[in-house]
Amino acid sequence: MAEPRDASITIIGGGAIGCAVAYFLARAGHRDIQVLEATELCGQTSSQAAGLVGQVRLSPERTRLAMHSVAFFSSLEELTGISPDWRQCGSLRISLTPERTAEHLAMADVANDCGLEVQFLDSAALQEVFPAVKAAQIHSTLWCPTDGYLQPNSLVNAYVAGARSLGVTFATNARVTAISTNGRRVTSVSTKLGTISTSTVINAAGPWAGVVAEMVGVKLPLVPVRHEYFISEQIPGWHRDLPVLRIPDLRIYARAEGSAVLCGGWEANAASLDPRALNAASVLSVEPDFEVLSNFHESIASVIDGLDDIGVQSVFRGYPAFSPDGRFVVGPVQAIEGFVMAAGCNAHGVSGSAGLAEHVLESMEPSPSPYVRSLSPQRFLETSWEYPQARQLAQSAYENYYALGASAQGGSPGEKR
Ligand SMILES: Cc1cc2nc3c(=O)[nH]c(=O)nc-3n(C[C@H](O)[C@H](O)[C@H](O)COP(=O)(O)OP(=O)(O)OC[C@H]3O[C@@H](n4cnc5c(N)ncnc54)[C@H](O)[C@@H]3O)c2cc1C
Repeated sequence: MAEPRDASITIIGGGAIGCAVAYFLARAGHRDIQVLEATELCGQTSSQAAGLVGQVRLSPERTRLAMHSVAFFSSLEELTGISPDWRQCGSLRISLTPERTAEHLAMADVANDCGLEVQFLDSAALQEVFPAVKAAQIHSTLWCPTDGYLQPNSLVNAYVAGARSLGVTFATNARVTAISTNGRRVTSVSTKLGTISTSTVINAAGPWAGVVAEMVGVKLPLVPVRHEYFISEQIPGWHRDLPVLRIPDLRIYARAEGSAVLCGGWEANAASLDPRALNAASVLSVEPDFEVLSNFHESIASVIDGLDDIGVQSVFRGYPAFSPDGRFVVGPVQAIEGFVMAAGCNAHGVSGSAGLAEHVLESMEPSPSPYVRSLSPQRFLETSWEYPQARQLAQSAYENYYALGASAQGGSPGEKR
């Protein structure tokens, strides 16, 4: 790994977002880029992700963007020489209620308009694709054969390899402790290893992005909200090519991890951290909440056969950063020239990493699209808000991730899982 050095562009954070941004900027012709990472590359939230990538949405724009991400992940090995372990196993959206089926019908219409292949499966077809499903419990199932999942560590390795081949340097164990300005623009960044000159800082510090923004006196409502899933012991019949399951009525998702079950979900009562209590050195450790995990287990066992008595092998968890409106926070901060946000991933920063990186790139151009402008941090800098209310709204964005109609509101187009 490189040492911190003077650079034109300094990206703070070496998770999925920082590494994707580095790769996309370098691919677009930007030069003299470095990534400064406090710990190890992909050492924090990104390493914990389930890696789900889904395309079925309620709006054509979102569907097309998600299709674009899938096409990109499919080509990443060719582009960088490293496979993101993208597995195009398909996905099943399982409905247990007529209201959810109505939502799936609307999603299928959008998919058809966009040229995304989806299909409602009858019981026989469903059992063929996923033999352990308790078909009698199910109201309808929407099948998307081109969805899938990837391995977050492999994805980050691919971004890093691609970025390195274009000259980007990566310094690890290089926590940023301060950012200096001349009152108007960014001039340097201090790390525990020394101070370097830079004219552009991109803040991709994940759950610490609010802390890094405060280093230039900018307050942003980025709230770490707990998210977790378990991986079971091996289960007969489970294998890595089984489709991803989303069961929004039970607030859960699942996929095979090898021959085990990976199952997580969106709690009805989210747990978050007060952003004001964090500093650059805060360690965000999460104790597994076995009550929550056992609810996920009971939910999946009610719909899938053979899961009643499974043991838990491991728990993955972290604090992805949520924004009060459930949307990415991307683009320059107008008051500080050279300070750009790449944060607020709302727990879809792995599947959304390529899209978010493209938005960052576009936000730095003279005329970004209205959509990219709508993600600007200015929406929180030009209005008044208070931390307690922002925290409540961010938790609500988490709690309503699978709520009926949620994909039509807020959120970042095409970039949910
Ligand atoms: C259990 C779980 C399951 C998930 N499943 C999915 C999924 O299926 N699909 C999906 O898309 N997303 C998923 N997510 C969300 C996803 O993990 C995040 O959205 C994504 O990892 C955010 O990436 P990031 O780069 O912004 O953050 P991080 O990976 O946390 O990276 C930020 C980096 O910044 C560094 N940093 C912070 N402060 C400083 C500093 N001062 N100086 C230098 N470096 C600093 C940190 O060390 C860290 O490495 C899941 C999250 C969890 C917890």
